Amino acid sequence: MNEGCLLVLSGPSGCGKGTVVKRLLERDPKLRLSVSMTTRVPREGEVDGVSYHFVTKEQFDRTVEQGGAMEYARCGNGDCYGTPAAPVKEWREEGMDVILEIDIQGYRQVKEKAPDAVGIFIMPPSFGELSRRLHERGTESEEKIRQRLKTGKEEIRCAGEYQYIVVNDALEDAVDQIEAILKAEHAKTEAMRTIIEEVLNDAQTISQ
Ligand code: 5GP
Repeated sequence: MNEGCLLVLSGPSGCGKGTVVKRLLERDPKLRLSVSMTTRVPREGEVDGVSYHFVTKEQFDRTVEQGGAMEYARCGNGDCYGTPAAPVKEWREEGMDVILEIDIQGYRQVKEKAPDAVGIFIMPPSFGELSRRLHERGTESEEKIRQRLKTGKEEIRCAGEYQYIVVNDALEDAVDQIEAILKAEHAKTEAMRTIIEEVLNDAQTISQ
């Protein structure tokens, strides 16, 4: 069986990454979302083990020290975020495609460890729209929003490091595009090694 694809989705806070991922998971039963660990406090409605694994700084540091994180980063707001390594490995080995919704610092580390990871940057249709969406969310102070917009601008400057850029204007179009990327990745020669072998084995049987 072929290993599943590793998709890394990044984009500025408020670009709609979370909604895009939710739709992708609804549409594709072979897709799994990696649940990150974080030291930040849960927002209203967030569920431990679903949105994130909410951990203390000590738990976070211990996991990292024991090699249990595929990548980790301290984000602009000072909180730590990391990807637990084991589920990603297991799912890929089972042939499932895995999505990481992480920031650029994490993406760079993932690319070092897994060069076959596919980076997709979710771009807002405009910066004004990004600001509007963050205000509309209404969960954070003006100061926090200002900080997120500043970080967002820096992240957009790095968008060129990703293999694909998907503009999230109309949600279903953005999801369609990511599904198309995934289909193309499955058809890549590297991912199709086994089929080449299988067809050649078959050819040998037939020509005998
Ligand atoms: P939020 O606090 O809004 O949930 O996320 C803040 C930022 O942390 C977002 O840019 C998000 O992509 C990033 N993030 C979430 N999980 C991880 C992770 O496991 N690793 C890294 N490097 N970044 C993450």
